[in-house]
Amino acid sequence: MSKFIFITGGVISGVGKGVATASIGAILQSRGFSVTAIKIDPYINVDAGTMNPLEHGEVFVTHDGVECDQDIGNYERFLDVELSRLNYMTTGAVYSSVIRKERNLEYDGKTVEVFYHIPLEVLGRIKNAARESDADFVLVEIGGTVGEYQIALFLEAARMMLLQDKSDVLFVLVSYLLEPKMIGEMKTKPTQNAVRSLNSAGIQPDIIILRSENAPDEVRKQKIATFCNVDQKSIIAGVDVKNSIYEVPLLFEEQNLGSVILEKFGIEDVPSRMKGWEEIVHNIESNKKEVKIGVVGKYFESGKFVFADSYISVLEAIKHAAWSLGLNPVIEGLNAEEYEKNPDTLKELKHYDGIIVPGGFGSRGIEGKIAVSRYCRENDIPYLGLCYGMQIAVIDIARSLCGLKDANTTEIDKTTSHPVIDVMEGQKENLQQKRYGGSMRLGNYECSITPRTRAAEAYQQKHVLERHRHRYEVNNEYKDQLEEAGCVFSGVNPETHLVEIMELKDHPFFLGTQFHPELKSRPMSPHPLFLSFIKVTQQSK
Ligand code: GLN
Repeated sequence: MSKFIFITGGVISGVGKGVATASIGAILQSRGFSVTAIKIDPYINVDAGTMNPLEHGEVFVTHDGVECDQDIGNYERFLDVELSRLNYMTTGAVYSSVIRKERNLEYDGKTVEVFYHIPLEVLGRIKNAARESDADFVLVEIGGTVGEYQIALFLEAARMMLLQDKSDVLFVLVSYLLEPKMIGEMKTKPTQNAVRSLNSAGIQPDIIILRSENAPDEVRKQKIATFCNVDQKSIIAGVDVKNSIYEVPLLFEEQNLGSVILEKFGIEDVPSRMKGWEEIVHNIESNKKEVKIGVVGKYFESGKFVFADSYISVLEAIKHAAWSLGLNPVIEGLNAEEYEKNPDTLKELKHYDGIIVPGGFGSRGIEGKIAVSRYCRENDIPYLGLCYGMQIAVIDIARSLCGLKDANTTEIDKTTSHPVIDVMEGQKENLQQKRYGGSMRLGNYECSITPRTRAAEAYQQKHVLERHRHRYEVNNEYKDQLEEAGCVFSGVNPETHLVEIMELKDHPFFLGTQFHPELKSRPMSPHPLFLSFIKVTQQSK
């Protein structure tokens, strides 16, 4: 029988509920318990695949091909597990199933209602994920902030679960302590109001995690304990961490959060083993030698804000590899459009130890990215292309080395005389019928590695499974020409013969993947291709 921990947010969004959830999982895992985690997003989008990264951050992809919220990535990285479609739901997905069931006469002629049938569906999904994973603990993070109309149905599902078995359910509120400059003091009232709002949904939090810039003092903690009806040891300070989010499990463990949770469930406490986390944090703090990586993209700025979330898995994968090699990663976002407008700025790429062109869609900035590929190729700068970044490298090589001047991807130029990157046959109908959502080549596909290549050296394996999210592919009709120009297709899908990995001969490191290796990197086991890339950046130093 699984135990359930619901995590909701109070006061403001974006304070790190996902990392808090993942960290709670990590401290339970460190006591030998198995953990799974579910993310609930309160929007109508059926999945995250149709959202611009500037709206909602990176779209993460599970092994079974669900385009989901980046928090699933946090859970996978912290818990070192592979999650699936059972671990993610949105309002849109829940409503779709209820409507489909109604059409199938699965409600026996009853009036199907928002309150009751929608929470019931949510509950069913949570229980199904628990059953399939057989985990000791199921963490359920409800996106958004309490008091929002949009999450009422999910809170209702949580309340219904509480009603079924109180001893199996805990509630954690991740709140924020505002410290307005002109007052110079932490204010607890917004958190108190968040708890009232939760109370009015029939829920009393068992644990409150107080996110804040500075550590809350005992007076504030006591005040919250008293006014929010929570014992003081269940008030956990979630102060901003210094260097990395991987400090959070240790921060929670120091305050005995794991023991508090077990006690509340009436489970006997066992010693925790946090060695792995301590080592990571120690490495991060003590690595002094810098490795400077430029990430060339276009999903950086939203109004006045610079957005780090669009490429979060790429950034984390760079960090994991750098830390494990004793390096301190310095990552900078480079705007592809800038290289288009002002090609002279390409020279700045020389200041980086390596360049990554990550995934992307559409025409904005693409010529800038092609120029980046060319510059890195011609100036021996290590280049790692991820999905679009690989397609872009192929376009650059076709244009510059194969003499195919107007080579392009048909995503951008449908009438190019050299479609070196072309839409997959099976995708044409999707595009014609405007079936965009959830219809790309998604999730795990096999890749056979060609011996004696850089990919083979990195993986030390003949076959790997990697995650995909794209509609276009290297056009195999151009394979021979590209090979003559120095391309090596070091990873190929054994069934479809589609190109999975491309690398260039006679270059320190020039490699692109059609898949997204960043999605499988973990703090304690970096991805082999990222490791190989970061290693090479150090060789010429
Ligand atoms: N736009 C490209 C495609 O659909 C690449 C997608 C990506 O980088 N994830 O094939």
